[in-house]
Amino acid sequence: MKRNESCAGELLNELKDGVSSVLLAQALMLPEEEFLAFYAAANETCLREKGKYVHLRAIIEFSNCCRRQCRYCGLRSENRRIERYRMRESEIAETAAEAAEAGYKTIILQSAEDPWYTADKLAEIVEAVTSLGTIVTLSVGERSPEEYRVWKEAGATRYLLKHETADPGLYRTLHPCGTLEERLDCLRELRGLGYEVGSGFMVGLPGQTPETIANDILLLGDLGCEMAGIGPFVPSPDTPLKDAAGGSAELTKRALALTRILYPGMALPATTALSVIAPEIRDTAFGAGADVVMKTVTPNRYRKLYTIYPAPGVGTTNIADDRRKVEEKIRSLDRIPL
Ligand code: SAH
Repeated sequence: MKRNESCAGELLNELKDGVSSVLLAQALMLPEEEFLAFYAAANETCLREKGKYVHLRAIIEFSNCCRRQCRYCGLRSENRRIERYRMRESEIAETAAEAAEAGYKTIILQSAEDPWYTADKLAEIVEAVTSLGTIVTLSVGERSPEEYRVWKEAGATRYLLKHETADPGLYRTLHPCGTLEERLDCLRELRGLGYEVGSGFMVGLPGQTPETIANDILLLGDLGCEMAGIGPFVPSPDTPLKDAAGGSAELTKRALALTRILYPGMALPATTALSVIAPEIRDTAFGAGADVVMKTVTPNRYRKLYTIYPAPGVGTTNIADDRRKVEEKIRSLDRIPL
């Protein structure tokens, strides 16, 4: 066996015996060839736990009005260059119905942090969408325990709220409006209410180190997440970080693979951000542990305004056709779309 292979092999065994941030950081930084053993292990784990299935989920981005100032995000309230929109309940329900008709069984309702949607208003929307027989996932940011409770009672069963970065200092510099502890309190609250919870983080944030990413991965376990979105940081125009370097696709995929190895049952999307910077690498994410794809079904006229980061080409307007294309892509990668 070549020295390189044995080095990666040893690290892999050590990781399986007992994980630490030092070991994870080392693995993240291995030369390319040596990391291949980790990709293979992640793929094996995924096939064993999940089979060849890839879960397709529809995402409706229903508002880009935001009260927060996250320094990396194009939707931050200080960005006056974008046109803001809010979808009405009937519009959201119609879009959801079209997605359900096209075959989606889970619908993610996501928005910027927009208190215009009060607890009651959003509860009505959740009820309208669950009445289609679909699972509803919410992703609307930090809200009060009472609001989370009302939406759970209305029928939402999952909630996505990425912790963004596990480094409290870095978190503070990126988020003028909040602390990591507040974010984690929300995640714990959601869990306590019985939601299936998704967290996640960005790879390649300015000031981030391999140790930070290692701690991000470990935090997912501490939080007991059912799901984790791991995407590269993509510099967004009209934000304070517009000139920063973006995250690398390779490092993102490595973080994904290590997460799969450590948490075999977790739902791990091949994130949209990854497809924006490297569509071909996103495809290989299915061989590195990913088992979920989130496909936007937001009506076209709004889609181009949901500019968290520079938007990929605005797709067609036909939800069913778009879904068929994704299904074909997944089959071509020897996976089975669900
Ligand atoms: N407002 C909600 C959800 C919308 S933002 C919330 O706070 O949870 C969805 C995700 O987009 C964020 O969690 C963040 O991880 C990601 N994001 C924002 N800006 C980004 C950027 N410039 N590059 C990559 N991902 C970004």
